[in-house]
Amino acid sequence: MKTIKLKPRKEESILRHHPWVFSGAIASLPEDIEEGERVRVVSADGKVLGTGHFQIGSIAVRLLEFGDKEITDDFFSRRLESAFRLRQTLGLIRQDNTCFRLVHGEGDFLPGLVIDIYGDTAVMQAHSPGMHFERLEIAQALTELPDARIRNVYYKSETTLPFKAQLDPQNDYIIGRFDGNIALENGLKFNIDWLRGQKTGFFVDQRENRSLLEKYSKGRNVLNMFCYTGGFSVYAMRGGALKVDSVDSSAKAAALTDANIDLNFPDDSRHHTFAVDAFKFLADMPKDAYDLIILDPPAFAKHRSALKNGLLGYRKLNAKAFEKIKSGGILFTFSCSQVVTREMFRLAVFTAAAQSGRKVRILHQLTQPADHPVDISHPEGEYLKGLVLYVE
Ligand code: SAH
Repeated sequence: MKTIKLKPRKEESILRHHPWVFSGAIASLPEDIEEGERVRVVSADGKVLGTGHFQIGSIAVRLLEFGDKEITDDFFSRRLESAFRLRQTLGLIRQDNTCFRLVHGEGDFLPGLVIDIYGDTAVMQAHSPGMHFERLEIAQALTELPDARIRNVYYKSETTLPFKAQLDPQNDYIIGRFDGNIALENGLKFNIDWLRGQKTGFFVDQRENRSLLEKYSKGRNVLNMFCYTGGFSVYAMRGGALKVDSVDSSAKAAALTDANIDLNFPDDSRHHTFAVDAFKFLADMPKDAYDLIILDPPAFAKHRSALKNGLLGYRKLNAKAFEKIKSGGILFTFSCSQVVTREMFRLAVFTAAAQSGRKVRILHQLTQPADHPVDISHPEGEYLKGLVLYVE
């Protein structure tokens, strides 16, 4: 294995178990080093700090083991077993709940890897060349996980791998084949489209927040903006909403929402889908039409450079909702931009509330669920923020 030496005093974050080595911390790279290789990282004075996957870019190494611990042959089996045990502890593996996130990258000490489970299919995404090269071993370990009964592994890396690396990314079954795609979340059925859908096909990260929404839905007129698969809408229907309108600019997403509503509430006239732009819908809709609004947009700021515009986007979107929501209404508002901190998001929403002149109280402060854990040494793993607001 090749060795990467750091510049003096650049080892501190690694000693505190932060799993990233930035390129600026490296003294020099071995000449023949290749992307995705396993490498050993040492401090300027030769102390072994850890072993990980090398990658060209600002994050140069993603560490898998710290100190002089070797990466053993059963490394992936052990990490996956520990991730599975945690999901069992969380009570997520039940007859009425067959989808959950099994591996959340750094949060499960497997940087660069995401795995979501839908029934007996695992959908796996590599975000690093290193994990891409290890994919077959990981897939094998998945199907051998005791009690997990995973039979199919779908690998979906075309959009997640660094495109410059020319790694021959793949969207295909590594093990098994398609044998059904209906998963259960808290007893509700969802068609999961990992072939054509965004990310792994479903946003399991909103499960707890959807459950909370269900409790507020009774007797309300609900507007689910940026509905994608209609997750929030299906929960609102079960919660006893009077009417539910779902909006997404993508016709494909609107069709997915319709299919999921049909699966759970066939011929229920309370629900309607609109394939239109969210900002246009909010501008055109009459005041007071809704007393429960969900705003769960895509990340408005994917990188730090887009932060200012992103925050402006959140402010404008929320301002529109405050302007239109009925008195006594409840707003569920989210940001999944990793670069937008909890404080920044709250300030953007506060500014929108102040602009609208409405009196607003915070009922709940929401985050990502426990199957998306945050390694305390890696605060960058926290990304989902939400506020539930009561609007006078
Ligand atoms: N709330 C969803 C996830 C939302 S993902 C869930 O619980 O699963 C973001 C969605 O926003 C995508 O489906 C995307 O098509 C949609 N979208 C992006 N820009 C939009 C816009 N300007 N207007 C309406 N929808 C938009």
